[in-house]
Amino acid sequence: MNSVPCPVCGSPCAPLDVVDFNKSCAESWGTHLPLTGIPVYYYLCDKCGYCHAPQFRDWRPEDYRERIYNERYIEVDPDYVEKRPAIAASGLIQTFGNVSSSIRHLDYGSGSGVLSRMLREAGWDSTAYDPYANPDSALDNPGRFDLITAYEIFEHVADVNHLMADISGLLAEDGVLILSTLLSDGFIAPRQRITWWYASPRNGHISLFSKQSLATLAGRHGYHLGGFSPALHVMWRTVPPWASHFFKIG
Ligand SMILES: [Zn+2]
Repeated sequence: MNSVPCPVCGSPCAPLDVVDFNKSCAESWGTHLPLTGIPVYYYLCDKCGYCHAPQFRDWRPEDYRERIYNERYIEVDPDYVEKRPAIAASGLIQTFGNVSSSIRHLDYGSGSGVLSRMLREAGWDSTAYDPYANPDSALDNPGRFDLITAYEIFEHVADVNHLMADISGLLAEDGVLILSTLLSDGFIAPRQRITWWYASPRNGHISLFSKQSLATLAGRHGYHLGGFSPALHVMWRTVPPWASHFFKIG
C-alpha cells in the first residue's frame, strides 16, 4: 500500500495496521462488538507521530451520522451525554469562575450543549456550537471568543487543518483554546500492531495525536501548545490578562 502525506507535517505516512470498523473504546471495559469485516487502515507518520485513517476523508456528515454517531453510539461512549460535560464544567468553573464575567466562552463540538447549559447556569456567557453534528448550524453572533473548549473533538476529525482554521477564526487573538484528546505516546509506535483502546473507529477516533504532532499542528496555525496531562491541552498565541493565573498553574 502506498504512503500518504502526513496532514500535520507533510512527511510520508506509511500504513501501520488494520483494525475492524467495530473496534471500540468499549473494549477497555470488556465489551466487544461483533466484527463487521470492514477494514480500517491507520497510517503512521514516522516524523511527527500523527496516526490517522485516511479512508474517512471522503465521508460526508451523513455518513458519520449513519455509521458512527447513530443511536448505538452511546453504547461505546456512555460518558458523552452527561458525565463528561459535568466534569468539564466543574473544572472550568474552578479555574475560571472568578473571571467568568469578563470572558465569552464557546464550546466547540458541543454535542447537545450540556456543558454550555451548565456554565450558563453558573452565570457564564457560554455558547454551544457543533458544526459536525449540525453542519447547517451557524452562530447567531459569532464575533470572537476569549475561551474555546473542544473536548474529545480533535480525534474525531479527518481534516485537522480545517478544524484548526475554523477554531482560529472564532478565537480572539489573545484567546485560549482548551482541548482534550488522549496522546498516543507510548501506545502507538512504528512496526507495532495497534492494540490501544483509544484507536477505535467505531468511536470515530480517526486522528490520533502524539505530543509532537499536536505541537506541530498548533505551530503550523500560529499557536503555542501546553499540556496538563496526556489528555488535556491548551493552545494560545498571546496570554490574555484574565488567564495569567491559569498559565502559572500550567
Ligand atoms: Zn507528520
